[in-house]
Amino acid sequence: MMAKVKPPVQKNETIQVMFEDLTHEGNGVGKVDGYPLFVPYGLPGETADVKVVKVKKNFGFGKLLKVSEESEHRVEPPCDVFYQCGGCQLQHMSYQMQLDMKQKQVKDNMKKIGHLEHVPVHPTMGMEDPWRYRNKVQIPVGQKEDGELMTGFYQKRSHNIIDMDTCLIQDEVNDRMVETVRRIASKHGLDAYDEQTHRGVLRHIMVRTGQNTNDIMIVIVTKTKKLPHKDEMINEIRDAFPNVKSIVHNVNSARTNVILGKETNVLWGDEYIYDTIGDIKFMISPKSFYQVNPTQTKTLYDKALEYADLRGGETVIDAYCGIGTISLFLAQKAKKVYGVEIVPEAVTDAKKNARLNKMDNADFFVGEAEKLMPWWRNQGLRPDVIVVDPPRKGCDEELLKAMLDMEPERIVYVSCNPSTLARDLKVLEDGSYETKEVQPVDMFPQTSHVECVTWLEKKEK
Ligand code: SAH
Repeated sequence: MMAKVKPPVQKNETIQVMFEDLTHEGNGVGKVDGYPLFVPYGLPGETADVKVVKVKKNFGFGKLLKVSEESEHRVEPPCDVFYQCGGCQLQHMSYQMQLDMKQKQVKDNMKKIGHLEHVPVHPTMGMEDPWRYRNKVQIPVGQKEDGELMTGFYQKRSHNIIDMDTCLIQDEVNDRMVETVRRIASKHGLDAYDEQTHRGVLRHIMVRTGQNTNDIMIVIVTKTKKLPHKDEMINEIRDAFPNVKSIVHNVNSARTNVILGKETNVLWGDEYIYDTIGDIKFMISPKSFYQVNPTQTKTLYDKALEYADLRGGETVIDAYCGIGTISLFLAQKAKKVYGVEIVPEAVTDAKKNARLNKMDNADFFVGEAEKLMPWWRNQGLRPDVIVVDPPRKGCDEELLKAMLDMEPERIVYVSCNPSTLARDLKVLEDGSYETKEVQPVDMFPQTSHVECVTWLEKKEK
């Protein structure tokens, strides 16, 4: 029997720690006699005073008190509420360190989970300016003591709203729109919705912008069926921002964390706004899934297209296709693209987007990719290239099996979760595919998320 080893630290004591590593969330890792202590905002190479806040059998958590030796990669977070807000995790480190950390995270997963240490993982493709990139904001509305409305994000692990005027990862236009709508609503005496009592009116303000078209959509979410002072609100918003294309009222009367309710009414203007990625135009409605960082989406899709290496005669499957963004990118270069997606509204949007771009070589189907792919296989469909872009949980086993059976020349795997990516690549490698390259792309600067696009080729027999 193993002797019971007591952790070498005690709760609430203050100790000096040197950080050796970073976790995938961006926390510093210090070792005390081999016992790992995870400390938010600690950076490798730094020595700091840390207060121990949680002690578990094999690891603990600490709070950073004072850094005595600073890393050259430490930067002053430009956002005033960075340490309170739950939105960003990495503003205290240089952008280069963020990119390096994400590359390392992917490499670690490839090695530990996929046993694919030989596969090249390229340096993360970052943004020239890693701020102000988000094209969509959904911000909760609260109320100050004096009755004024406020907007802000939730405090970490809580539902308290932090009053804030600007969010540095949001498009500046979104910031200004939120501020304007809030000011107008305040002026007309609208009350904020209160989660505790389930009373009040205004729940969220949502703004979507087409960064390449300058279109703006405003969605006002209320608990009540009626939007008080509707006409004055519309006129004043339009006066303040003439390029608003669409003002929408959404009703959400439920006790829920979900932001949008079922009922959506266009108050003024169009039902959709537009944006472009490369040469393709997309329609965006309040509920459509659309990538939030269009600049990096273009980078990601260009890479996917390069890996797909289409010559014009190919049949391609795009599984988990959403509103057809990748599918239409591929359809520019392929003979035929089949998209499959589980959300019916997204498939409707995908079909509309194909028509909007006058592309008649892309067909979209509603269904579970793990059911439709084996069915296609049984029908004898043999695509030349398969692209997958699954949610965080990765691909279903049935889908991986169907892909192997279909024997495409190439597979392009787009992933927002390196650990399920590595797991699935292992299955494909154990089949007859070879992973050639993994390219991490920074879709969400200042946060710990990383996206990857991976190229696989069928092995020579
Ligand atoms: N490729 C798209 C969307 C990727 S997000 C883009 O780049 O914009 C992943 C998509 O997979 C979502 O649209 C989600 O609705 C869909 N999805 C989730 N589970 C699915 C399943 N089992 N079968 C098919 N689609 C699924």
